[in-house]
Amino acid sequence: MKIFVTGGAGFIGNSVISKLLENEIVKVINIDNLSYAGNLKSLKKFESNKNYIFEEKDICDYNSISNLFQKYSPDAIIHLAAESHVDKSIEAPDNFIKTNIFGTYNLLQNSLYYWKKLGMDKKKLFRFHHVSTDEVFGELSFNDPSFNEKTPYRPNSPYSASKASSDHLVRAWGKTYNFPYIITNCSNNYGPYQFPEKLIPHIVINAIKGNKLPIYGDGLQIRDWLFVEDHASALIKVLFSGTVFNTYNIGGNNEKKNIEVVNLICEILDELMPKKPKGIKKYADLIIFVDDRPGHDFRYSIDTSKILKELNWSPNESFETGLRKTILWYLENRQWWDEILDRSYDLGRQGFIKK
Ligand code: NAD
Repeated sequence: MKIFVTGGAGFIGNSVISKLLENEIVKVINIDNLSYAGNLKSLKKFESNKNYIFEEKDICDYNSISNLFQKYSPDAIIHLAAESHVDKSIEAPDNFIKTNIFGTYNLLQNSLYYWKKLGMDKKKLFRFHHVSTDEVFGELSFNDPSFNEKTPYRPNSPYSASKASSDHLVRAWGKTYNFPYIITNCSNNYGPYQFPEKLIPHIVINAIKGNKLPIYGDGLQIRDWLFVEDHASALIKVLFSGTVFNTYNIGGNNEKKNIEVVNLICEILDELMPKKPKGIKKYADLIIFVDDRPGHDFRYSIDTSKILKELNWSPNESFETGLRKTILWYLENRQWWDEILDRSYDLGRQGFIKK
């Protein structure tokens, strides 16, 4: 079985490819243009695997993608490639519109063209699995019920609006052309290989370096957190066993305030790195509150009952165990993130800037 994974040089793609390659009958073709968030170093572990191929291509480039369909004749696509950082989407939305909307459209058109020409057997099995976010549903107040698969879309940031647009395109291709898609909407992921712009690695790395730990606004915003390997196992389950023309919500059942997340990171670091930077007694002394992100959503929460009932999927990792594994990974893989800091990422601020 040949599977295209787009965005496999990024955070979640890495975990998805690892899990797919555990099955020896699966061949993975990773399609990624190595944007700032893509990292070839993270992929080194796959290079010796005969079932792994890397194609450095932009999903917005019609001819390149068309050639890949002809070259490999895939049986399925897991589409993860995207611009994924909300702060960046506020500063510079252009690439979000281009990659997330136009890139998805481009993949859909290529896939549809390819799928229409398949023989009956292959056609029946083909899947376009679009990986999306819970942010498309907008924000919840403290007492609102969790997002479910029927919650109306109400995206608030350029990032979530671009992902919502791509979800709509995928669904429309299903309805109009009978094109076999599945969409998953997942909550916040964390784990190894996450780019340092995202909250958890941002805080862990700043703390290790003895820098201030900036928290947006009052830090009371609530997110649901899912360990990346649990997300990857859910995606694979959905790909192989999910029902086409369907959406599934994926979450960790771990709602936490941002300030709780940061305090927990600090407590774990107090234990794992007792030798503190000069002038502080505990890592939490480094916390500072900074101006809030514009349009900052207050709460996300996911109702996971559909995926539990239909596919018997639930996460393995609790937030405490997953967070500890994640922090240990960043402590043990300093070279991985040091190179990113040297190359392009300025830890002194919350968003991303090219140096
Ligand atoms: P990431 O930013 O770590 O990785 C994205 C990858 O896509 C990178 O390797 C990048 O090089 C690649 N890419 C970007 N533009 C491309 C283009 N034009 N052509 C080819 N490749 C391109 O993102 P992630 O956190 O791994 O997220 C993956 C997907 O999961 C995204 O679609 C995101 O919206 C979705 N998602 C993420 C989270 C989360 O918490 N990280 C939660 C829910 C859903």
